[in-house]
Amino acid sequence: MENPSSIKAILLDLDGVLFIGDKPVPDAVHAVETLRDAGFLLAGVTNTTTQSRRKIAGKLADMGFALRTDDIYTPAALALEHIGKRRVHLVVRDALREDLAGLCEDSEHPEVVVMGDIGGDGYPPALLREVFLHVMDGAELLALHKNRFWQMPDGLHLDLGVFVTAIEYATGKKAGVFGKPSKDFFLGVCASLDVRAHQALMVGDDIESDIAGGKNAGLKTALVKTGKYRAEFVKQSGIKADLVLPSIADLPDAIRLL
Ligand SMILES: [Mg+2]
Repeated sequence: MENPSSIKAILLDLDGVLFIGDKPVPDAVHAVETLRDAGFLLAGVTNTTTQSRRKIAGKLADMGFALRTDDIYTPAALALEHIGKRRVHLVVRDALREDLAGLCEDSEHPEVVVMGDIGGDGYPPALLREVFLHVMDGAELLALHKNRFWQMPDGLHLDLGVFVTAIEYATGKKAGVFGKPSKDFFLGVCASLDVRAHQALMVGDDIESDIAGGKNAGLKTALVKTGKYRAEFVKQSGIKADLVLPSIADLPDAIRLL
C-alpha cells in the first residue's frame, strides 16, 4: 500500500485505540504495520502519566506494536521545560520519575505543584488537602492532563481531571495543563515529526482530548468506536471528526478518503 492521502503523519492515542487494558484491539497490530509500510510517520500520543515512555514502549512491543520509546509523546516533557529550575512538588507515580529527571524537588515550600496520575482510586482527601495548601501558599498549579474519566476492563473510572478541578474550585486558581487537549501538545508533536498540522491525523477514542483537541490545533481527526467511545458523549459534545471508524483496524482503508 502506498500513501494515498494528503496525510503524512498519524498521531495515535494509545489506550482505547491500540489496546484496552493489556489486550490489543483486534487487528490493531496489523493496521499499524500496514500504515507504517505505507510510509506514514507514526507517533503514540498519550496522556498516560502512570508509566515512563520507556515502559509504555515496552508494553506496546510486548503486544506486537512497532513503536519505539522515541515515538511516544507524553505530557511530562512539556512540563519539564515549563518548570525549569523552580522548586517543585511532584505528585506522580514513581514509575514516571525517569521522564521528569533533573527537577529541583521540594515538597515543603514548592513554587510549583504538579498533579499527575497516582493510580488506584485517585487522590485521597489528605493528598488533595496537601496540594490545596501549597496552592493557597502561592505555588503554581500544573496538571499533566485533565481527562474526566478513563476506561478499564471493569468499566469507567474517575480520572485526574476530577481531582485537578477540585483544587481549582477550592483555590479559585486555574491549572496549567500539558497533555491533550492542549494545542501546544499537538503542535509540539507535529514539530518533532517535521509536518504541518494539516498534514497530520489524530486518531482517538476521546471526543474531547483527542478529537476536539486535535481539531483545535489544526489536525485532521479520526474517532474510533473502541475504548471509552460512547455514542451519547459524541452526540452531546456536538464535535465532528473527519472520520468515524469502528476501530483502528479500519484506518488503512479509510485514510485514502482524506
Ligand atoms: Mg484513549
